[in-house]
Amino acid sequence: MQDLLRSLPKVDEVLNDEETKEYISQVGREPVVEAIRQAIDSIRQEIVNEKLSIDVRSAVKAKIKASLSDLERFSLQRVINGTGIVLHTNLGRARLSAEAIERVVEVAANYSNLEYDLESAARGSRYVHVEDLLKKITKAEDALVVNNNAAAVLLALNTLAKGGEAIVSRGQLIEIGGSFRIPDVMEQSGCILKEVGTTNKTHLEDYENAINENTTALLRVHTSNYKILGFTKEVSTEDMSALGLKYNLPVIEDLGSGMIINPAKLNLSYEPTVAEVIAQGADIVTFSGDKLLGGPQAGIIVGKKEYIELMKKNHLNRALRIDKMTLAALEATLKQYLDLEKAFRSIPIIKMLALTKKELVERADRVISQLMGELDDKADVSKVSLQGQVGGGALPLDKTDSFGIAIVPNCMSVSEYESKLRADKLPVIGRIEDNQFLIDLRTVDPEEEELLIETLIRPFVGE
Ligand SMILES: *Cc1c(COP(=O)(O)O)cnc(C)c1O
Repeated sequence: MQDLLRSLPKVDEVLNDEETKEYISQVGREPVVEAIRQAIDSIRQEIVNEKLSIDVRSAVKAKIKASLSDLERFSLQRVINGTGIVLHTNLGRARLSAEAIERVVEVAANYSNLEYDLESAARGSRYVHVEDLLKKITKAEDALVVNNNAAAVLLALNTLAKGGEAIVSRGQLIEIGGSFRIPDVMEQSGCILKEVGTTNKTHLEDYENAINENTTALLRVHTSNYKILGFTKEVSTEDMSALGLKYNLPVIEDLGSGMIINPAKLNLSYEPTVAEVIAQGADIVTFSGDKLLGGPQAGIIVGKKEYIELMKKNHLNRALRIDKMTLAALEATLKQYLDLEKAFRSIPIIKMLALTKKELVERADRVISQLMGELDDKADVSKVSLQGQVGGGALPLDKTDSFGIAIVPNCMSVSEYESKLRADKLPVIGRIEDNQFLIDLRTVDPEEEELLIETLIRPFVGE
């Protein structure tokens, strides 16, 4: 044992390796020294516990290499989405367009007129940068953006309904993943939830009968991630707006996804667009920036000027404020909607949803022929027709007809293969069905195909 312990390298020795110097230049000296020290200590323990008896040097070398490459890895990292779920909340929802990314980089790397009016040389407002675009696209009187849609609903209720009762249908008391629950948001906003109707049916008179001197708002929530089917009745935005007018109460509609394009153009089932809901008379409409809009995480509030003005003045808005990088990406994304053809060409999630069967089959053929060339008899690879989803709590019943690849490894189990792909330096997220590993190509960009193939091969070549 003494011999083994004596053969452990010194930290300084390892530090002089060419390979180590490379790491130092990338992550700095301190973390590298720490990683080497820990690696040597852990091998020393193994020797002391008689778990290691041979080749100390190569054991230390392997351990150091592993901890150093961990150092280079970021916790938040890129993955390849092979799930076919276009707006996968756990995988970061919408990917941004090239133009939006360019704007983020420009604004983040430099000073900007974020809150500076270049004309008057005076203090300006960060909200002006997207206000006109939002007004044009949704035909609303005014607009405001905050951190996310949960914040948008909170701000709208806190500003317009605090201290009184906001009336909601029992069929619309939704929960969205990540603990957004309408009853809880209402409580936090300081208003009282007044439920009316039943789970499947709510009538206009249910709302009208519940109105009293304490009522402050009427709330309508889009049941974006579930559908109640069968014997059902929901009051339309038009009817709620007429009721709101009659009693002078604001009608707030939480629309969730924020469809801008007619969903029929993407072969999706009917979903009201933001402009439609505004035209139907809703006073305030809120929606997310990173769902069907295809932009950055943000909460967008559009509607009547008198109400939006109050929200802008609410001190809570300061805590929910949108960041400059988000604003830069949002402005670029919204600009693309001024020309729908441009939106179809440039916004990644719109492009993915618009992909045709023919295009997907072509991609699958291309990836499969390359994979088969590399894998020989190490795995069986075939083309499969798959069903994807929109995701992100949008259009829960819609299935997208998709194509992809099925891989069955011959030298390891499918679950072993799947976990190796997840642990890869560029993780690929797919799914296992009927003992096959499946990748849906709708959510893989053509520019990612090379990288996808490299990761899919790595578990077989033991790199
Ligand atoms: C997604 C969703 C939310 C939450 O939006 P975030 O932007 O994730 O905060 C709220 N309400 C509805 C109806 C939704 O679909």
